[in-house]
Amino acid sequence: MSTTSHPVPVVVNWHLTEACNFSCRYCYAHWERAESIKDLIREEHQVRALVTELGRFFRSDEAARKFGFQGVNPRLNIAGGEPLLFPSALQTAIHQARRLGIRASLITNGSFLTEELCESLAPGLDMLGVSIDSGNVDTNNLIGRVDSHGRLLNLDSLSRSFKVLRRCNPALAVKLNTVVNRLNWQDDLSNVVDLVEPEKWKILRALPLVDQSTSVTDIQFQAFVARHAAYRSIAVVEDSQDMQESYIMVDPQGRFFQNSPYSVGYQYSQPILEVGAEKAFEQVNFDPERFLSRYSKEAGDAT
Ligand code: SF4
Repeated sequence: MSTTSHPVPVVVNWHLTEACNFSCRYCYAHWERAESIKDLIREEHQVRALVTELGRFFRSDEAARKFGFQGVNPRLNIAGGEPLLFPSALQTAIHQARRLGIRASLITNGSFLTEELCESLAPGLDMLGVSIDSGNVDTNNLIGRVDSHGRLLNLDSLSRSFKVLRRCNPALAVKLNTVVNRLNWQDDLSNVVDLVEPEKWKILRALPLVDQSTSVTDIQFQAFVARHAAYRSIAVVEDSQDMQESYIMVDPQGRFFQNSPYSVGYQYSQPILEVGAEKAFEQVNFDPERFLSRYSKEAGDAT
């Protein structure tokens, strides 16, 4: 790995589970299962240990020297799957992060975001991201954003939950994530964006490596972006090319992983809690230059 020394905040994305109530066709939240290793959410002491080790490593001199991370204030970004299926493990991770002075954020599909849960989550979070690809019932059904009982995300109830979140933590930033794919590229998401009122709207492109049939052409992707030009000031557009080797990602079993363009599927490290974060991080391809260039475009927010 090459080295660099820009001062950047560091976002570590921990995919706490691959379980989800939805089944989006382009979902990439599937990881190789090592029989001998259990998901860390089964043991809350393991959750605490992982957060502690990540915080130690990403604030260490070695991480700054070897990988160019001068970010002494990493952010733990908890994603899935759907993390709110495991509220207890999620709260443990957030509490541990805050205890150690590490900022925390959450990515959710929003379907379990009750007002009660928002009250308990809001104080511990710097940012909450909600992933919504369409406000259209048919499109959501086609994408697979529907549970086994046929339930879709209820946008009215989500709107009420966001009011609670903002009341309980006025400093909390709300982000909207949208994956542009073959099924929604013609949609107009203005009503969704107006309802969520995000500080940032991340527009991502479906990764062709997951499901070729849901990927979009350059022209389709750009047409979606152009249709929403009114939201230019909050939009962060991310083409799949930008995503290769430029996220720091940990899977449910506590391994770093990367989606390298040079190999099929993911590349995994050994479990972080077995070998330590430094050794594990050296075992996956990570491109610091690409990471830093994306950070500079996004004002420090990686997810
Ligand atoms: S909501 Fe997210 S985690 Fe769940 S299936 Fe869809 S993309 Fe995957």
